[in-house]
Amino acid sequence: MGRYIDPSCRQCRRIGEKLFLKGTRCYTPNCSVERRKRPPGDAPPKRRRSSDWAIQLREKQKARFTYGVLERQFRNYFETAREQDGVTGDMLLQVLERRLDNAVFRLSFADSRKQARQLVNHGHFYVNDKKSNIPSYLVKPGDSISWKMVGDSVPSFIGSLTDGLPKRPVPNWLKLDVQKLRGEVLGVPDISDIDTGIESRLIVEFYSR
Ligand code: SF4
Repeated sequence: MGRYIDPSCRQCRRIGEKLFLKGTRCYTPNCSVERRKRPPGDAPPKRRRSSDWAIQLREKQKARFTYGVLERQFRNYFETAREQDGVTGDMLLQVLERRLDNAVFRLSFADSRKQARQLVNHGHFYVNDKKSNIPSYLVKPGDSISWKMVGDSVPSFIGSLTDGLPKRPVPNWLKLDVQKLRGEVLGVPDISDIDTGIESRLIVEFYSR
């Protein structure tokens, strides 16, 4: 499966805002967006009014970078959203939120979606007590998400990730059992739970041109 190899901070600078792709560093003065206001590259930024298309494209890229999804897969998510009952933009955000790597991040088992994806890829999580190493798996109500245990605990090298849980508020569609290091999917994500600041309407307009 393909993945982005572009440095995370470069993606933020290209979009022109913080996308919080790197976990704790994003909250420090070392954040590249804080330090370097201009987009990546040598050329000075052009002073031009953005067209509607450019604004819609930027929002689509922002969503892709935030969730770490390649273009073809993102387009598939859009088609899935379009086939569902409801507002297409809302359905799109809901599908993206249901990715297993995002659920792991939302449960605060990882500091960033990128780290969550890596942990899932490396087989550190079970879904419904079965090993699952597919970050794009879409969780559904009733699913459980748990760490792969060694004996009664997680491997020591990931102990720092599970200390002091939850590190962030867990959204209402998930439930975290800190003692068992286990999450449960209670329902589908509500739009009010999604704090990415993505204007899905612009993405729908982009694909509807
Ligand atoms: Fe983006 Fe985080 Fe890098 Fe800042 S530190 S540019 S928010 S990935």
